[in-house]
Amino acid sequence: KGKRAFIAGVADDNGYGWAIAKSLAAAGAEILVGTWVPALNIFETSLRRGKFDESRALPDGSLMKITKIYPLDAVYDNPEDVPEDVKTNKRYAGCSNWTVQEAAESVKQDFGSIDILVHSLANGPEVTKPLLETSRKGYLAAVSASSYSYVSLLKHFLPIMNPGGSSISLTYIASERIIPGYGGGMSSAKAALESDTRVLAFEAGRKRKIRVNTISAGPLRSRAAKAIGFIDMMIEYSLANAPLQKELSADEVGNTAAFLVSPLASAITGAVIYVDNGLNAMGMGL
Ligand code: NAD
Repeated sequence: KGKRAFIAGVADDNGYGWAIAKSLAAAGAEILVGTWVPALNIFETSLRRGKFDESRALPDGSLMKITKIYPLDAVYDNPEDVPEDVKTNKRYAGCSNWTVQEAAESVKQDFGSIDILVHSLANGPEVTKPLLETSRKGYLAAVSASSYSYVSLLKHFLPIMNPGGSSISLTYIASERIIPGYGGGMSSAKAALESDTRVLAFEAGRKRKIRVNTISAGPLRSRAAKAIGFIDMMIEYSLANAPLQKELSADEVGNTAAFLVSPLASAITGAVIYVDNGLNAMGMGL
């Protein structure tokens, strides 16, 4: 029987979420995605108009099929959490059931269960500010959108995950080494995400035999990364200093995700897996 995956954080064909969807689809999984509410309209329209058809192509020549797109804002757990100004915001008003709890309920109603949960989302409103200049509000927003969003997703999807299933998120080395410029509490948020990966691996493993891992990915020119402001510099730095001097392709992260959620990785849980051309292993560039 084919596996079913829910991938949170896909809104175009440039990011890691899209590449992971493709690798899982190529391996035979059914693909459901969760798309940030304000980005939903343009994503659906672009898909419908064939804008992504070229990048939907799988190795066997067929086009990746997304069975269903769910609206999602992973900053809110249930309708009681949603402030009035968001409820009435015109980007949200035409849409319903997009809190984490409601999205999980919708998937349950539509499909009953899933096997794979992917978290490929992050947001830090003050990411361009140094940590010393980050406000409490900005810091907490980064942790809410980028770290707790994963705790919440796993919490709400766990009851509908089939035993033997698996979950992954995406992290970045700024959690453990200094990356000047990755600010706004985003480095803190990734440190929380990695620590939570271990604790959640224990809890979800004991509770439902679910594996939990995170991929520490190298730099990719995604929409989110462009917002940080120095993605080209990060890519150049990696090209100059990593053991493997090639640009990282999103597919390499997608393929690692497909391995990690497959039975080939059945003893791997609670791990941070580096997919970065080896840059993490360097102490000094040469
Ligand atoms: P991306 O722009 O493709 O993905 C980020 C997604 O998060 C977007 O689709 C956005 O709409 C969504 N999002 C933001 N706030 C949300 C919310 N509240 N609820 C639901 N969705 C929300 O960019 P990406 O770089 O592929 O990011 C995916 C993951 O990869 C992130 O966790 C990111 O930190 C991580 N990562 C990226 C890089 C890189 O260089 N691009 C490196 C390491 C790790």
